[in-house]
Amino acid sequence: MTSDSTSQGPLRLGMVGGGSGAYIGNIHRIAARQDRHWDLVAGAFDVDAARGHAFAASEGLSAERSYDDYRAMIAGENAREDRIDAVAICTPNFTHFPIAKAFLEAGFDVICEKPLTATLEDAVTLERLVRETGRFMGVTYTYSGYPMIHEAKHMASTGMLGKIRTIQVEYPLEWMATAIESEGNAQAAWRTDPKKNGRGGSIGDIGTHAYHLAGFVSGLKLESLTADLATFVEGRALDDNAHVMLRYEGGARGLLWSSQVALGSSNGVRLRVFGETASLRWFQERPNELVHARLNGRTEIIKRGADELSEAAKVRTRTPPGHPEGYLEAFANLYAGFAEAIRAKRDGRQPTAIGRDIPTAYDGLKGVAFVDAVVDSAAANNQPWLTPVAV
Ligand code: NAD
Repeated sequence: MTSDSTSQGPLRLGMVGGGSGAYIGNIHRIAARQDRHWDLVAGAFDVDAARGHAFAASEGLSAERSYDDYRAMIAGENAREDRIDAVAICTPNFTHFPIAKAFLEAGFDVICEKPLTATLEDAVTLERLVRETGRFMGVTYTYSGYPMIHEAKHMASTGMLGKIRTIQVEYPLEWMATAIESEGNAQAAWRTDPKKNGRGGSIGDIGTHAYHLAGFVSGLKLESLTADLATFVEGRALDDNAHVMLRYEGGARGLLWSSQVALGSSNGVRLRVFGETASLRWFQERPNELVHARLNGRTEIIKRGADELSEAAKVRTRTPPGHPEGYLEAFANLYAGFAEAIRAKRDGRQPTAIGRDIPTAYDGLKGVAFVDAVVDSAAANNQPWLTPVAV
């Protein structure tokens, strides 16, 4: 018999990966702790067990809940009355599938990093398993945690833009502009290895964020795409720059750019949605603002924290307007949403606003399917590329 955490107290979180020197694990820990919805109590933090144990000790975890690997963690946690409520998977892409599958089959809820898996086949299997087991799976599409992204979604869904005509979304990064994967950068090494990262390079790593963001805000379903992938850094096995043209159901068009070689761009996620009567602009380096331009020529800056915003934006807002919030709060909003979704499922009720419109396994599957279609399209290269003739 295991006992679930009470609906009031924090949920118990376990983590796989995210140990010493890893990137995203620490962001998960900060986010999970921010609202006291979660306590980190167990982990298999590193591919190297000894390093993982040292890390667990530095985090103040009890030695008995620091495990050699995820299999030992499942066995150990399953034997406890106070077993973890969910596991956060913060490992390289190719390991998401076996780890998530094992936890789901053992009856645990899962929070998984994106892209959901390295192959479409695995993503299909995992998403089916989530449905079959009735477990919860959240996928950390970070940018859908921002209050002003929820405001944008609210505005698009309540007709404030009119019928959407075109979406421009981009995620440019600069950190892989040189061959750092061959200079000892561990994060770049697995990201440029097709077996570990999956078939798409920049398109899998960050294009999936952009694709999710565009669909999340617009509410539009992708119908088809055509893609042009490039690898600018010599010897790299995967794309480091992607341009994708999108056709959405209902006739809207889109353009998506992801790049790991865009000098001067740190994490410049940008979304623009143009409708028949208005447009919206959002830029992650100014995440507390949404620019709304209307057909009548008026342009207004909508600020996070303003009284008249939607409930979806308000429940994700912590500080008054003018005090900056950003990435960590957006990530914490995802963790708050996952906690609420898990509690609501247990209580047999509908989730409150924070637990609605959160990224789940199906969104993860759609992301991997998107990568597959992009890579296939680019490989087929059957687009008519015409050379303009100046007369
Ligand atoms: P990383 O290389 O910095 O860290 C990976 C960690 O996983 C390391 O601690 C490593 O020891 C551990 N690990 C590897 N295999 C393991 C195993 N079998 N068992 C236990 N631990 C294992 O990677 P990262 O940059 O943090 O990326 C991890 C994941 O997070 C990737 O899927 C990536 O796409 C995703 N990510 C998401 C975001 C976001 O915004 N949501 C941002 C960055 C990375």
